[in-house]
Amino acid sequence: MINFLDLKAINDTFEPDLSGAIKRVLDSGWYLLGHEVKEFEESYAAFIGVKHCIGVANGLDALRLILKAYITKGEMEEGDEIIVPANTYIATILAITDNRLAPVFVEPDILSYNINPWLIEERITKRTKGIMMVHLYGQNAMNPEIGRLVKKYNLILIEDNAQAAGAFYLEQKVKDGNSFGVISNTNDPNQNKLQPCRPRRTGSLGNAAGHSFYPGKNLGCLGDGGAVTTNDDELANIIRALANYGSNTKYINDYQGLNSRLDEIQAAILKVKLPRLETDNERRRNIAKYYCEHIEHPDIILPDSNNIKLFTSQTSLSHVWHLFVIRTSNRNKLQAYLTQNGIQTLIHYPIPPHKQRAYKNWNDLSYLVTEQIHAEVLSLPLSPVLSDNDIERIVYLLNNY
Ligand SMILES: *Cc1c(COP(=O)(O)O)cnc(C)c1O
Repeated sequence: MINFLDLKAINDTFEPDLSGAIKRVLDSGWYLLGHEVKEFEESYAAFIGVKHCIGVANGLDALRLILKAYITKGEMEEGDEIIVPANTYIATILAITDNRLAPVFVEPDILSYNINPWLIEERITKRTKGIMMVHLYGQNAMNPEIGRLVKKYNLILIEDNAQAAGAFYLEQKVKDGNSFGVISNTNDPNQNKLQPCRPRRTGSLGNAAGHSFYPGKNLGCLGDGGAVTTNDDELANIIRALANYGSNTKYINDYQGLNSRLDEIQAAILKVKLPRLETDNERRRNIAKYYCEHIEHPDIILPDSNNIKLFTSQTSLSHVWHLFVIRTSNRNKLQAYLTQNGIQTLIHYPIPPHKQRAYKNWNDLSYLVTEQIHAEVLSLPLSPVLSDNDIERIVYLLNNY
């Protein structure tokens, strides 16, 4: 049996350091708002390439707190619109509606599954305050067109980086100094004027980003955990206060906050795991490359089908392969076949947010590309502890389907 994700095996590879970290915090007698969190925040901010990191309780809270901070600052108010991909995990949408803001759905690009940048401008109105982009499955979603729209309409750009810890946006510049990006769109008329420049991490591309350290994410702790990253000093201060009852000084409350903190044990665990994230992501990349080069079946659509050459030395950094997602028209049949042969697969995700009972009012809307993706996707096992034998067996089974 090949499990979809063997968390115990992953965490065993960090032993005895994980047990040591837990014991150290246990023995310290200090469990919240201490130096473990402070040290992790500093390392993670440096890793992402931003000034501030604020540890919070989970990824959903990270996104909720960013929006709440903009409301607190008076830059957003109830009913304002946030552009968001229709094709995302529901947490992205929950963060918006929880703040009484209005998500405005944009269909994905069928090749990358990320938001289609060319469909955003037509959805912008006077009430549009921001774009919440999602680097889905671990692939950078930033694109020159998004940069252009953010500037033109003076929008706040928020990243949901829950699935893409460690990914890069391979920004390029044109001669006049404006920023542009490469990656998903080969029709970009500026493509041949672009000069390569320093890659930047996802999570450092907009005004603020939400991160998740849910155990199954590329950088996972042993419970719930999350973080906000930003270069904005004022925003960072407000978010830090909002996550701690709205207080910067004990018993002095400046805002109506909530309690959403990363605890010392989770921070100590993340300090052990962060230094290996790059190596683990590289292993993920190698597995994804092997899958793409060896899976060959007329009924299976691979992630690289868009021919954007995800594995050239430059573009490969834009994807950290949180999930390896294939598409097939008869998904149930393929999933049953793999199950019978001892391969566990999952579906990310079976029902899009606008079709969920939680959002009854939107159930009649139709986003056809999103719905097609939800009907066809299947995630294969992919993790740093998957063995070469496992990978070869999965490829063999798929090719003989
Ligand atoms: C996991 C995830 C979240 C939420 O993170 P939690 O830590 O589980 O709250 C948000 N957005 C996306 C895209 C995710 O995959």
